[in-house]
Amino acid sequence: MSPFPPHVRLVIFDADNTLRRVTVPGRVCPWGPDEWEPLPGIREALAGVAWGEGGLRLAMASNQDQVFYGHLTAGMARRLLMDAAEAATGHRPEEGAVRFCAHAMDAGCACRKPAPGLLEQAMAHHGIGPDQTLFVGDAEVDREAAAHAGVAFLHVDELLGQASLGSGSSSHQKT
Ligand SMILES: [Mg+2]
Repeated sequence: MSPFPPHVRLVIFDADNTLRRVTVPGRVCPWGPDEWEPLPGIREALAGVAWGEGGLRLAMASNQDQVFYGHLTAGMARRLLMDAAEAATGHRPEEGAVRFCAHAMDAGCACRKPAPGLLEQAMAHHGIGPDQTLFVGDAEVDREAAAHAGVAFLHVDELLGQASLGSGSSSHQKT
């Protein structure tokens, strides 16, 4: 069963500490393929969701200033974001739906969260408006970006909590 409200057609995810977590101590985001793992519980929380044609549309919105600072290329950042989305949802997102900000933290750009640019780009890619979109994240900048874009926000802890409640309450359906 989907954990999302029935009117939602597009779910945009933050990456770090929402779909994935870094396995290298002290690092804010992975710089390479061996430096992350799916956030514990996220696969289970999203297991009942159908993505793609006939289901929900999938997108990502991530601040990736580590690209600006030279720790990874934009191409690697995109690949790692797509890998994380696929690991968490079982569905590889369209490349154009994976939006990230590669500017400096203090660039004052229109895309870095809490600005709404990444969310607006993701909605434009899918042709779906803010009233049918949900943004899932873990940080205050995510909540603020959603508000600036006019999009509903769901904290990942709530998503994980719903999943654990759901697995308990639906136990009678087994057998
Ligand atoms: Mg995050």
